[in-house]
Amino acid sequence: MAQSVKGMRDLFGPVMGAFQRIEDTARTHFAKHGYQEIRTPILEYVEVFKRAVGDSSDIVNKEMYDFKDKGGRDVVMRPENTAAVVRAMIEHKLLASSDPQLLYYIGPMFRYERMQAGRYRQFWQIGAESFGVASPESEAESLLMLFDFLRALGLKELKLSLNSVGTPETRPAFYAAFRAFFDARESQFCGDCHRRIAENPLRVLDCKVPTCQAALEGHPVITDFLDEASRAHHDRLKALLIDLGIPFEENPRLVRGLDYYTRTAFEVLSSDLGAQSALLGGGRYDGLVKMLGGPDTAAFGWAIGLDRLAMVLEAVKGNQEGPKPALLIPLGDKASAAALKLAQTWWGQGCAIQLETRGGALKKALQTANRQGFTRALILGDGELESGTIMAKDLTAGSQEAWPIAEVPARLKA
Ligand code: AMP
Repeated sequence: MAQSVKGMRDLFGPVMGAFQRIEDTARTHFAKHGYQEIRTPILEYVEVFKRAVGDSSDIVNKEMYDFKDKGGRDVVMRPENTAAVVRAMIEHKLLASSDPQLLYYIGPMFRYERMQAGRYRQFWQIGAESFGVASPESEAESLLMLFDFLRALGLKELKLSLNSVGTPETRPAFYAAFRAFFDARESQFCGDCHRRIAENPLRVLDCKVPTCQAALEGHPVITDFLDEASRAHHDRLKALLIDLGIPFEENPRLVRGLDYYTRTAFEVLSSDLGAQSALLGGGRYDGLVKMLGGPDTAAFGWAIGLDRLAMVLEAVKGNQEGPKPALLIPLGDKASAAALKLAQTWWGQGCAIQLETRGGALKKALQTANRQGFTRALILGDGELESGTIMAKDLTAGSQEAWPIAEVPARLKA
């Protein structure tokens, strides 16, 4: 039997319903804030992520779904989209004016991960990015949009986990203190952390190994090393969040997995799934556009995993497939042609109708309708055609009545 590629899954049924609701809600909410959609290709040159995400990250180190194309070029199925969006913004000179640019994306990402529950090699993300604004106000606006979006989906138990990772200029002082702390207990840290302390010390804070997390007890805190401007920025954002009623918690170990973050870094946790778990992450990445060859541009953004969000939604609200349309069942050749024409008119008027086109017996059509969860059937036979009516059957109640054909759209919508 043919099977899907390892780590990649098909979406259908209730999970697909949850995905659609999430995507529709995102589009509505983000448009209200003036964000516009951008779609970039799934394949990018490997260089885009090597330069942006950084060689020391797990994404580039271990998880790239990369290969050579037929022309021998090194390409990769995008592991995340921020770097790709920045690449597109630079390529199309959309950042040249330094005007603010507000963008969102929805699409699949690919990481060659070890298999585990809730981790896929193809997964979906929704992200929002704002370019050209450095203020804490722009971060508060983006976070408010995010929280309104999540609350509109029915999530209540949300908390922002917040940190500032400072700027590249101020980080060396923190690194020195942190290396001294690490050296004093280096035998307690894993092999990966020994590599990280040399390449990118912040990553040690991010290590998932429990003994490393224990060894970090009492580590120097990066917010104690912020320069004055970064400190003021951080304090201002916290004041704005309090004002907006967005609950947050400061987390000095939160650094995000990527090299390009400056100042604000955050995750959003949800206890709707039981234990507190990270739903999404993001932050400020003022260094990235320049790093990829563009003009010096402030930037802030976040990305949320749809797979995990859909799981949370199913836990919160149970299965949710979209409502079924009415099933229009014609009986006989004459009615079949008439049903197509009627459906054409009703679709044009915005009605949701699915057409039974197999022909055959009414009994079989109704059995299928019940099995597939339809709640309304419209039956059109020669008799009905002559009298200008249609037999409307309520499949849940088992009752039926004749509706004048002209009244069908209004009655369906009622
Ligand atoms: P990241 O880009 O690593 O910060 O991930 C952002 C969000 O994407 C995470 O919070 C997850 O919800 C989701 N995510 C990342 N990797 C995977 C994966 N392999 N499978 C499913 N979801 C993922």
